[in-house]
Amino acid sequence: MTFTTRFAPSPTGYLHLGHAFSAWTAFTAAREAGGRFILRMEDIDTVRCKPEFDAAILEDLAWLGLEWEEPVRRQSAHFGDFDGVLQRLQEQGVVYRCFKTRREILEDIARAPHGVGDVYRGPAEPMSADEEVARVEAGEAYAWRLSLARCRDVLGERFAAMRFVEEGRFVEEGRFVEEGRGEIAADPDPLGDVVLARKDVGTSYHIAVVHDDALQGITHVIRGVDLFELTPLHVLLQTLLDLPVPVYRHHRLLTDAKGERFAKRNRAATLRAMRAAGGTPADIRARFA
Ligand code: GLU
Repeated sequence: MTFTTRFAPSPTGYLHLGHAFSAWTAFTAAREAGGRFILRMEDIDTVRCKPEFDAAILEDLAWLGLEWEEPVRRQSAHFGDFDGVLQRLQEQGVVYRCFKTRREILEDIARAPHGVGDVYRGPAEPMSADEEVARVEAGEAYAWRLSLARCRDVLGERFAAMRFVEEGRFVEEGRFVEEGRGEIAADPDPLGDVVLARKDVGTSYHIAVVHDDALQGITHVIRGVDLFELTPLHVLLQTLLDLPVPVYRHHRLLTDAKGERFAKRNRAATLRAMRAAGGTPADIRARFA
């Protein structure tokens, strides 16, 4: 299988140094492996994503010296695919409608014996079919949550056997310099029952990323270490959907002079601003060290 990796930004703003580092890391890994590099726009949030940011991302990455395969997949053109994934999960009985408001969820968490953070572990009793139908008919808002308890039932021994390989950690001069943790158990338990879709938005980052990584033949997911904790959830979805589990590599996160992560609101750190101030691609890459 050809080494295939991707950079998957959400066009909700201009790329900053942190994004550039992530994109460069994935691109360099593909080049070193003689593999493929894919750019994918994760634009399912049709309110916050804007065509001008999409265009700016293409321009900034090309300026930085990256090359990717055409055509670029834009998730907003494929909501039907993601509806299909949700439907499969519904047929498997692993998702349920949750009508609780954010406030009710927080109250439930506070009451739970081992409540931690804002992790929701599902209702004590499943809702009766009559109540569910009545609330849907009344037009109440709801979220589709993935039930970890149901996943355990449906997958049986496969649930406890879920694993993934973390191959590399951290990066220097475009190379992963530290071995990853190797093959590790994928335990989605710390995340609780995660929201996978809403009444009006039939998908989420989790559904879309897992679907598209498989569709595009991604063999290596290369992304920031901040996403490490979500990987077990993605492996669970891959297992439910009978999709291959890619290898994962996590890079460190770039920080500014104050030690804070770059954010989209930090205008000075955007590639645009650095370029406007006379910065060159080599200057940007020097900041990755
Ligand atoms: N669209 C996600 C982001 O911008 C991509 C995360 C990933 O690489 O899976 O954070």
